[in-house]
Amino acid sequence: MHRYYQPEIETASRETIRALQSERLVRTVRHVYENVPFYRAKMESAGVTPDDIRSVDDLHRLPFSCKQDLRDTYPYGLFAVPLKDVVRLHASSGTTGKQIVVGYTRHDLEIWSDCFARALVAAGASDEDIVHISYGYGLFTGGLGADLGAQRIGATTVPVSSGNTQRQITILRDFGSTVLCCTPSYALHIAEVLEEMGLTKDDIRLRAGIFGAEPWTNEMRRQIEQKLGLKAFDIYGLTEIVGPGVAFECEEQTGMHVNEDNFIVEVIDPETGEVLPEGTQGELVFTCITKEAFPVLRYRTRDVGVVSRGTCSCGRTLLKMTKPRGRTDDMLIIRGVNVFPSQIETVLIEKGYTANYQIVVDRANNTDLVEVQVEISREIFSDTVKNLTKKGRELEEALKSLLGIAVKVKLLEPNTLTRSTGKAVRVVDKRKLLD
Ligand code: ADP
Ligand code: ZN
Repeated sequence: MHRYYQPEIETASRETIRALQSERLVRTVRHVYENVPFYRAKMESAGVTPDDIRSVDDLHRLPFSCKQDLRDTYPYGLFAVPLKDVVRLHASSGTTGKQIVVGYTRHDLEIWSDCFARALVAAGASDEDIVHISYGYGLFTGGLGADLGAQRIGATTVPVSSGNTQRQITILRDFGSTVLCCTPSYALHIAEVLEEMGLTKDDIRLRAGIFGAEPWTNEMRRQIEQKLGLKAFDIYGLTEIVGPGVAFECEEQTGMHVNEDNFIVEVIDPETGEVLPEGTQGELVFTCITKEAFPVLRYRTRDVGVVSRGTCSCGRTLLKMTKPRGRTDDMLIIRGVNVFPSQIETVLIEKGYTANYQIVVDRANNTDLVEVQVEISREIFSDTVKNLTKKGRELEEALKSLLGIAVKVKLLEPNTLTRSTGKAVRVVDKRKLLD
């Protein structure tokens, strides 16, 4: 079995990667300056020309770009090649507003295939595997991104796309799929329906799962692994950069290796824009250095993470980023305290609940109120009212001691919350509707 898809890159020395990055950055900056009026204007107003960018060390001189820039130039304003050279369009899933559109040349699709192929090989996949893809194929990047990667390593792809979970399970079982690609919340739902159909993990042959596109905790990972009988790997990406495969996890499961030969990552202070040293938490910023059609410069993701360059037991030298705990926009501010949904998820699962939960935030008498709604099993639900109240109280206590603020808990009957086949909706912030 191969350990790496492209060992010459994945285990390259720091100097090799830096030299590659510098050369590619210089070329990309010139490319966008010459072909995208938006970047030229932005660089001009920042007083920078392509001649000022001679290596990775000059990266900080370039202006940032952000989602609003993509919306303002919708649909094709940031494309750096003529449309006739674009062979594919994708759009973001629009979690946080109007959708944005990105394009790929044939060369860009090749790079993307390589990125996802690295993720699959790191998860132990090869041409012997049957890869079941339940990420959406719509305009979302998940489905076709995984598809490209699976084809690249010569695996057998099963392009199921999302939805119709019973059918998904029949296919998993009948086709003998060995690798599953979908969002972690959908993986958990598949496990749930498997159980409802009277089946267990022994009726399917999954060995590995590549799950991403939304934040998820290690506690949720253990739950998926146990229920589906596989090893679960994280994968990170976003439409604006390329799609899934910007960073991928290895068997160590302690963060994702960034495909640094294609994307340069920086961590910044979201308030000041200042670049933070490795090991410090901040907003992740990416620069594409190999793409032709849609290379973004210093793109602010709003995702919060930490990057570090240590040695990894897998032998890869590519730097690692932590699982993003969510976007700066997902962070809730409750009575002045910062709360990430992932913190709540950790407590729920540690206390033996499922990841079927929702956080409802409201405001009454100028005070923020939080209600954590979580489903419990049928056995527990049929317990006495007294015991249920006690369970709820215990959970409230545990949440309070972790978050530092009081929240209310509501225990729900199984199957009350709507299941997502893509990205789960974790927060309903009613305060936003009031503003
Ligand atoms: P949208 O912005 O409409 O949701 P995308 O599909 O491009 O569209 O989503 C990319 C975003 O999904 C990332 O910026 C990040 O917030 C989230 N994401 C992707 N992969 C992961 C992951 N492995 N862990 C946490 N969040 C992720
Ligand atoms: Zn590793």
